[in-house]
Amino acid sequence: MAKLYFRYGTMDSAKTLNLLAVAHNYRKQGKRVLLVKPKLDDRFGAERIASRSGLEATADLLVDGAARLDPADFEGLDCVLVDEAQFLAPAVIEDFRRITIKPGVPVICYGLRTDFQTRLFPGAQRLMELADAIEEVKVTCQYCGRKATCNLRLVDGVPALIGPQVMLGADDTYVPVCWAHWDDMTSRASKGERVSVAR
Ligand SMILES: [Zn+2]
Repeated sequence: MAKLYFRYGTMDSAKTLNLLAVAHNYRKQGKRVLLVKPKLDDRFGAERIASRSGLEATADLLVDGAARLDPADFEGLDCVLVDEAQFLAPAVIEDFRRITIKPGVPVICYGLRTDFQTRLFPGAQRLMELADAIEEVKVTCQYCGRKATCNLRLVDGVPALIGPQVMLGADDTYVPVCWAHWDDMTSRASKGERVSVAR
């Protein structure tokens, strides 16, 4: 039986680089790989799967929120690789779970576990519930040597504690941090203290 994998990590943990390396290895062996991405909007270049290292590829399939997948469309593939899987609807994760049984194709999902408020994304939650293998892609905190487990959202350079879970096209950035730094910086910023953030 093929497996459903969830490889999670914070921002900047090289998840997409890992995905592109796996795709490269499959293709080098003459195997058929499908690259999938959630469709969040119609921005130009939405099908690009780009790693911060500069490597990139084009998604073969964009899945929007309401879509359901037909297992027959995945027949004959050797592997399905999903980028930004946290944005997929839970029902789509369930479809991928079925695809690992019939036609029996392994599905490897890469994504964030939690949002900037340290809460699970719906897609990540369903993956945590259904995946056969849950693996962490690690990176250290931007400000200390501990492992980063949180995504600190900066809006105009200020740590944010409130706001929508997904902010498309907004001029914000994310920093991978440990829990201690996330808690300290968001608490101080929410009290109106000036928090200096080096990136
Ligand atoms: Zn830290």
